[in-house]
Amino acid sequence: MATLFISDLHIDASCRQIIRQFTEFLQTEARGADALYILGDLFDSWVGDDAPDAGQSAAIAAIKSLTASGVPCFVMHGNRDFLLGPKFCADTGARLLPDPVIVTLYGEPVLVMHGDALCTDDRAYQRLRATVRNADWQRQFLALSVAARRTLAGAARTGSQAHMASMEDAITDVNAESVAAALRAAGTSFLLHGHTHRPGIQSLSVDGRECARIVLGDWHNEGSLLRWDSNGPELLSLPRSD
Ligand code: MN
Repeated sequence: MATLFISDLHIDASCRQIIRQFTEFLQTEARGADALYILGDLFDSWVGDDAPDAGQSAAIAAIKSLTASGVPCFVMHGNRDFLLGPKFCADTGARLLPDPVIVTLYGEPVLVMHGDALCTDDRAYQRLRATVRNADWQRQFLALSVAARRTLAGAARTGSQAHMASMEDAITDVNAESVAAALRAAGTSFLLHGHTHRPGIQSLSVDGRECARIVLGDWHNEGSLLRWDSNGPELLSLPRSD
């Protein structure tokens, strides 16, 4: 048995291949798992639990059948779907996780994050993050009509794409000191996150302690999966024939 981690599927109605691959993954490999963790940006945009599109509804139904089969599913907010709330949990049977959180896997404590909080070189993004994670801001946003929320989310996405295109890659990646600080505070030897779409395993030393930072990839061209069992972690790509 293994625990499975994925992130950054960025699902909306336009990405049929990703929805198909995700649904198949939930019906096959995930059915035999101890648990499935989705570490943020399951959806490309989420303006509230009352407004999923057709693709997102299909993903929700697929997660519901996984949890109904007895496999626990845990979901963390990403920077695109930080408004996932109680109705999403009720509809999927999944539970929301705080970010960061320590998950103990077969005896090994692992620090788990979405990853955007580690990108501290991008000051403009961190200011935006602080605003939209504020409870008052979220209440006011969710009080708007679905149409108004979609318009604002579309504008935010356009602004984000322009911002990312204008920044150097190093600025939008994690900050090394923030990574070390997170590992130091957690006291774990492993950090696992998504968000940067730069999959890989990096070894690093924190105060003389050997640590590893494991980064999940996105699902744009193929799937990305971390499988963790009693032998430890294994980062896999899931090829797609489309
Ligand atoms: Mn993200």
